[in-house]
Formats: sequence, C-alpha cells, structure tokens
Amino acid sequence: MTAVYKPGDTVERSGIYRVIHDRNHASPHEVTCVYGKQFPPCNHCGGHPRFELVRAAQHIEHNDHFKK
Ligand SMILES: [Zn+2]
Repeated sequence: MTAVYKPGDTVERSGIYRVIHDRNHASPHEVTCVYGKQFPPCNHCGGHPRFELVRAAQHIEHNDHFKK
C-alpha cells in the first residue's frame, strides 16, 4: 500500500517521490522532497498533483552522523 500525498500535506519522510499531474499537461516525474516541508501546488495544475514515495532517504542534515 503506497502512501499518496497532495499539495499542502506535510512531508513525513524525505526521499524521492513520483509526481502525477493532470495528464494533459505533464507526464509523471520524480522529485526530492524533504521532511517537515509541505508538498507544494503545481504552477500549472494547482492542487492536482499526487505524490507517491518511491524511495525514502533521510536528508543529511537530519542524520545523526552529520547533524550539528
Ligand atoms: Zn501540474
């Protein structure tokens, strides 16, 4: 079961997400999203995009070995 997020939701896990837009204007693609931020609206299809976690990877600034 894949968790799916929408614009305005808070990013719960940093990592690579697949973005699904209104299919009339953009093909699915991948982006990196960082823990604690909000998934943003698309400049073209507003609140339509859905974000699916492809691969979680902790942001280095949040990692115990590297955070200050
Ligand atoms: Zn869009």
